[in-house]
Amino acid sequence: MERAEGIRNFVDGAFVEPTGGQYLDNIEPATGKPYSEVPDSDGRDVELAVTAAEKAFPEWSRTPAADRSRILLRIADLIERDLEKLARAESIDTGKPLSLARNLDIPRAASNFRFFATAILHTENEAHVTEGVAFNYTLRQPRGLVGLISPWNLPLYLLSWKIAPAIACGNTAIAKPSELTPMTAYLLCAISREAGLPDGVLNIVHGTGPKVGQPITAHLKVNTISFTGGTVTGKKVAETCAPMFKKVSLELGGKNPNIVFADADLDAAITGSVRSSFANQGQVCLCGSRVFVERSAYESFVDRFLEKTSQLKVGDPLEATTDQGAIVSKTQLEKVKFYVGLAQQEGGKIALGGSVPPAPNERCKEGYFFPPTVIKDLPVSCRVNREEIFGPVVSITPFDSEEEVIGYANDCDYGLASSVWTQNLNRAHRVAEQIHTGTVWVNCWLVRDLRVPFGGMKQSGVGREGGNEALHFFTEPKNICIAK
Ligand code: NAP
Repeated sequence: MERAEGIRNFVDGAFVEPTGGQYLDNIEPATGKPYSEVPDSDGRDVELAVTAAEKAFPEWSRTPAADRSRILLRIADLIERDLEKLARAESIDTGKPLSLARNLDIPRAASNFRFFATAILHTENEAHVTEGVAFNYTLRQPRGLVGLISPWNLPLYLLSWKIAPAIACGNTAIAKPSELTPMTAYLLCAISREAGLPDGVLNIVHGTGPKVGQPITAHLKVNTISFTGGTVTGKKVAETCAPMFKKVSLELGGKNPNIVFADADLDAAITGSVRSSFANQGQVCLCGSRVFVERSAYESFVDRFLEKTSQLKVGDPLEATTDQGAIVSKTQLEKVKFYVGLAQQEGGKIALGGSVPPAPNERCKEGYFFPPTVIKDLPVSCRVNREEIFGPVVSITPFDSEEEVIGYANDCDYGLASSVWTQNLNRAHRVAEQIHTGTVWVNCWLVRDLRVPFGGMKQSGVGREGGNEALHFFTEPKNICIAK
């Protein structure tokens, strides 16, 4: 394959080479071959981005919300104009089916900009009257320079979920996409320039976590960090930020339960569970990797779940008929294989999948493919049922009572999301209330209203994104108290 255009850093409104002149190969997961290059930047590049963001902050933070809004709306329009180009870039970079990038990732990136562009026009300032003494009002001001760090699974979707509220609120940003999937972040830079975003408001520095992510989190002038990624990295980010008292939002890993009661609409539960298990090759932090089914429905659920899953076509991500593309990297593929092996050592039986499939075509013969894999008979609290795999692997376990399954669901260090399938409304409320996850979907999965609080409990993170939570995170509340 011909090399795609070389990715460059975006600093102060210009595309620039990394200071050290070094680049990493950007690999296409479907072929296992490098197809472009990504800057291997370091602290010097972060410093340049900080200088640019600092210079841009005074004017951008004073720009009226209506003007900021107009620019963000233009960015959303341009993302939609370039939808096909961006979707193709996302598919090639991540290995996800082109259809998924076209229908989910890129439209959501446009929605993120549009949502926060309009949200800032409808905010309210609180006022508190201290009777007979004083009148208080709350000013919410932009915090300054913010660092935004995102993972590889939903590259533009998640990076724009941070960039949009950050700059909408009047902050200036230094962002780092995953070095594995940098292409759409690079394309977004040209879009933001075309939309009229002033130089230095958005700066993107490409490279690895240790050489770019760490200097961003450690920089004294970057007082706010919004991070999405794994729990181990999240701990490092938290450790770096704590002594500097930075405001930090951590959106981390998950090991999400998907609970199916016998009184559920089984057709809907099966369709929903296949999707929640294997969307994006199981590489969505919200995927339900632990499926629990009430015993009386277990056999029939498993048969139909396996049948429907076996119809998913693993293929070249760029082909229209593909349901399951490639795993993002060789390292991630090895991790998935490791856990499938471990599952067998832990007593699990592979009911479907479990080994590398034949290459879908000549182009993809060295690609990183793994089929949807279903494991039965695993002990509930074994490692495979507790640790995040982040691939197309689920376990299915029967349960006998509501109380038992709530215990199973909560017996986990993570607490990001869960799904509950039942037609009994009282049970839905009762179970949802007792599950320790930041989101509980009832009779659905991945329905996302951008106004709702989004985030995890326990080891799945600290803080919430979305709607007012994001507007509050990216602003500093100041109480102004005026004596009567
Ligand atoms: P990761 O390894 O933690 O990396 C996330 C980002 O952090 C990448 O850009 C990474 O750079 C960077 N990074 C690495 N070390 C760093 C450091 N010391 N300081 C600052 N930044 C650093 O996660 P991943 O493998 O990319 O993504 C998968 C994980 O993300 C899964 O655990 C998944 O559950 C989680 N996730 C959570 C959510 C959520 O909303 N809760 C959403 C999506 C994904 P590199 O380019 O070097 O990797």
